[in-house]
Amino acid sequence: MAEIERETMEYDVVIVGAGPAGLSAAIRLKQLDADLEVVVLEKGSEVGAHILSGAVLDPCGLDALIPDWKEKGAPLNTEVKEDNFYMLGEAGEIRVPNLPMPPLMNNHGNYIVSMGNVCRWMAEQAEELGVEIFPGMSCSELVYGDKGEVKGVVAGVFGLEEDGSYGPNTEPGMELHGKYVFLSEGVRGSLSKEVIAKYDLQAGKDVQKYGVGMKEIWEIDPAKHKEGTVTHTMGWPLNSNAGGGSFIYHLENNQVYVGFVVHLNYKNPHLYPYMEFQRFKHHPMVAELLEGGKRVAYGARAITEGGYQSMPKLVAPGVALLGCSAGMVNVPRIKGNHNAMLSGKSAAEAAYAAIQADRSGDELPEYEAAVRDGDIGKDLKKVRNVKPMWSKWGLLPSLALGGLDMWTNTLFGLSLFGTLKHGKNDAESTEEASKHKEIDYPKPDGVLSFDRLTNVSFAATNHEESQPCHLRLADPNLPISTNLPKFNEPAQRYCPAGVYEVVEKDGKPEFVVNFQNCVHCKTCDIKDPSQNITWTTPQGGDGPNYPNM
Ligand SMILES: Cc1cc2nc3c(=O)[nH]c(=O)nc-3n(C[C@H](O)[C@H](O)[C@H](O)COP(=O)(O)OP(=O)(O)OC[C@H]3O[C@@H](n4cnc5c(N)ncnc54)[C@H](O)[C@@H]3O)c2cc1C
Repeated sequence: MAEIERETMEYDVVIVGAGPAGLSAAIRLKQLDADLEVVVLEKGSEVGAHILSGAVLDPCGLDALIPDWKEKGAPLNTEVKEDNFYMLGEAGEIRVPNLPMPPLMNNHGNYIVSMGNVCRWMAEQAEELGVEIFPGMSCSELVYGDKGEVKGVVAGVFGLEEDGSYGPNTEPGMELHGKYVFLSEGVRGSLSKEVIAKYDLQAGKDVQKYGVGMKEIWEIDPAKHKEGTVTHTMGWPLNSNAGGGSFIYHLENNQVYVGFVVHLNYKNPHLYPYMEFQRFKHHPMVAELLEGGKRVAYGARAITEGGYQSMPKLVAPGVALLGCSAGMVNVPRIKGNHNAMLSGKSAAEAAYAAIQADRSGDELPEYEAAVRDGDIGKDLKKVRNVKPMWSKWGLLPSLALGGLDMWTNTLFGLSLFGTLKHGKNDAESTEEASKHKEIDYPKPDGVLSFDRLTNVSFAATNHEESQPCHLRLADPNLPISTNLPKFNEPAQRYCPAGVYEVVEKDGKPEFVVNFQNCVHCKTCDIKDPSQNITWTTPQGGDGPNYPNM
């Protein structure tokens, strides 16, 4: 094939992903030096279109970045007023008192927000400072320099033929080069994955862990709406089948975020995370709240859960990993947006100083140190044992011991357990189907619970059909030859968007990939027991179009 010719654009810093991490980096760079050339590339059709968080936002990241965010009209309108935590049984619930919880679990002073809207507002702030933001631009490849450093990305490839080749309608995109490239792609970023592997950034660290989070926005009866209320639950319906739990956040306008997270280290391949979420809404406490209301949006996204011990090395020549590209979620708090913002700020400060010193294309150890020794490291270190305890000992022992561990870490800066390890990665945690019982899920009633494809239509996801499938199978036969007999092909169930199906054709099972349904959650890239699926970026602008997730 003839060499592909692309236009090249030169910047000081190229930023991949307009989430809280990438936008914070862009804003901070321009605050430090208005003359820096900074570009942000986002695969969503607009900034915010692919953003999905809970979200209760700890404003410490925003305070550090834009201290006058209130005067500047940031959409943080709903302060948390009430914080509840329940253990659910099938027919009832027990309220866990707030008093024994360590202070870090307290949500007072935090805000219930649409992170999509917060990102839209941050993009406005960035553009006012002169940052160039290009939505609808997927970054599909990294560009390497002569010394092996990352020197840029390829973005904006459109119109590939179905087999991935270049055709008459292919636009080859452009190369955007920077003195530094920031990868702020969020959880399981596709370019970040390449960089972590190429420079062996996970060496000496624990494996990364994940959950899959599903979320609906409901408009509920105003009489039941309590703006500013935050509720978390654990227990039913997952019980001992998997770790995880729910969140219910009452935001403005009689809307409620209802979400459910399932830890992806579950063993039973019959488990169906989406149906666990649907079943959860039939719990009497939840059903009572939602009855008479309507679901107005649906989405899903993986969440990083490895925390402190799983963060890879954050820098390699010319490149830095920001926010959840490196996994900066504080798991017991289910919060990562504040750390994403703080990491963006620190990466910007390190790159600014390096550029001032005429450096480029090298590592930014100053950024690594700022994250590990600064507020992010402190935030994550205190809670580092909560997830491994849960994986090893189950919910109740880990609640007690995890609580104790968070207290000793908070009060004395030490843990009686040292730093626990996570064990296997989530793909390897899946056991053979024959070792586990099938789970009988009730049929959705169409009122409180919905079938998966109906719900996916509420994610407004869209993919141009003529492009190559962005979900690449290393071995296309493996789903039927191995995953089906061994694991009852769990892709049929772990995907919250119904992308994967096993259908019968001519009396034989066939694996079908409905990539058009994909909501870019990345669960398949994480959980496939044979690690046969690689999520790559589809062409720009495709994917979900979330309203105010
Ligand atoms: C269900 C759920 C609930 C959560 N609840 C909370 C909460 O209540 N509070 C909280 O603080 N945190 C919460 N989190 C965690 C929080 O969402 C993350 O910590 C946060 O989103 C990380 O920010 P980020 O900027 O690193 O990545 P993201 O917010 O994921 O942003 C990444 C952006 O990069 C874009 N992108 C990715 N790859 C490319 C590419 N190759 N080319 C171009 N663009 C690309 C994406 O489209 C996206 O817009 C939750 C997460 C989930 C899944």
